[in-house]
Amino acid sequence: MSRRILIVDDLATNRIILKVKLNAACHETIQASDGTSALKMARDEQPKLILLDLMLPDISGIEVCRRLRADPLTQHIPIVIITASADREKRLLALQAGADEFLVKPLNEVILLARIRSLLRTHELESELRMRSETWAEMELAERETVFTLPGRIGLIAAKPQTAIGWRQSLSPHLLDRITILSPTEALSDQADASEQDIYLIDADLGAYGSGLRLVADLRSRKQSRHSALALVLPEVEPNAAALALDMGATDLLPCPLEGQETALRISLHIQRKRRADQLRRAVHHGLKLAVTDPLTGLYNRRYGMSHLDRVAASSARSGRRFAVMLLDLDRFKTVNDVHGHAAGDAVLETVAARLRSSLHPKDMVARIGGEEFLVVLPETTMGAARQVAERLCRSVAGHPVRLDELSLEVSVTMSVGLALGPCLTDGPRDTSAETRQILARADAALLAAKSDGRNQVTIASAA
Ligand code: GH3
Ligand code: MG
Ligand code: MG
Repeated sequence: MSRRILIVDDLATNRIILKVKLNAACHETIQASDGTSALKMARDEQPKLILLDLMLPDISGIEVCRRLRADPLTQHIPIVIITASADREKRLLALQAGADEFLVKPLNEVILLARIRSLLRTHELESELRMRSETWAEMELAERETVFTLPGRIGLIAAKPQTAIGWRQSLSPHLLDRITILSPTEALSDQADASEQDIYLIDADLGAYGSGLRLVADLRSRKQSRHSALALVLPEVEPNAAALALDMGATDLLPCPLEGQETALRISLHIQRKRRADQLRRAVHHGLKLAVTDPLTGLYNRRYGMSHLDRVAASSARSGRRFAVMLLDLDRFKTVNDVHGHAAGDAVLETVAARLRSSLHPKDMVARIGGEEFLVVLPETTMGAARQVAERLCRSVAGHPVRLDELSLEVSVTMSVGLALGPCLTDGPRDTSAETRQILARADAALLAAKSDGRNQVTIASAA
């Protein structure tokens, strides 16, 4: 994404006026004088936002808007339509074509710049999310989600109940979404039912609670509504108040009285955008989870296990409490595969993993760091306690055979454990990453000793 804003207008004077305003606010600009060159520039230059005049010599602004939205290379660029006429039909068409905002000339500079700031803020967050989730998608890790069919959730918050009821009456003929009337306190409560609306319509004056702006700030700062769209309903748009509202996190400003059809259209667009972002957030979260997880057993993977060990070592260096490291290896596991087949081997690994996890305290960590090898880290422990845990883990595996119902099979497995305790405190500066390498090497040597000593047992590493 470039840092520039694309100005599209057939009149050079209009372009220059906009350019001067934008440059003064530190935005760089590029210009196009007709629809065709605007489309080409949008593709080639990837502007961060487009200011689009509706009356162009070749293609109408509405059509330009539609084509920008239909092209994967330009579909995410925010579009602000700028026009001389306040025609309601045109406004609806522009919003339907995918415009983010519709401003009428003469432009109020304060509002224009606040709108641009607000759109860029949302857009940058979204593209950051998109970039991260695309990485996962490319790695074929992301969850494939279907398109939303659930109705959206709209919360109406006004000082007087009649006001909210009036809003609902003008909106409901145009929307299939669920509309709930809420008080400010309900909107801010932790009750899942009242919170978690996709969009909140907020009266500019909320009586005893204070201004709508205060609620915007409160909702933005809460976990449940941080990502919701927040539309402030204002009796008249005073430019400085409007700019302040946008800068404080309002997604949209709606003129009062609400015009049913246009407001409904804007609400639908906000709901769509919010859900797209929610989906991206889920994909990123899911991807992050997959990046640290072993797909077969659901345990942490080697990468996570090792970095966790580093963190525990560093924290032990601060607290002075010792920590334990165990390397676990299934005994003669190759035989399981050779006798029962690889699928049976996999199933045994899954069961062993589940047994290990359920035998450990939540603060302890177990990772699968190799084929049939596991790493266990116990923070803040003693040799006696760690030894007991290691023996419990051994018993959890050897105690009873693994039943493989699908294969009508029972497989007995055992496990060997090498246990080493984190370093005693020494004075002076400490190199914890060298210490982790050392403790792993000691645990590994102990594991080897357990194996050569007959397997199915815990061996404790000799002192460092
Ligand atoms: P030891 O007691 O000395 O550890 O004997 P072992 O057979 O367990 O050790 P070795 O390292 O020779 O073999 C490990 C075997 O584990 C090799 C491979 O067949 C099996 N294995 C490793 N990863 C997987 C896996 O993901 N699935 C299955 N089914 N088997 C695996
Ligand atoms: Mg092994
Ligand atoms: Mg083994």
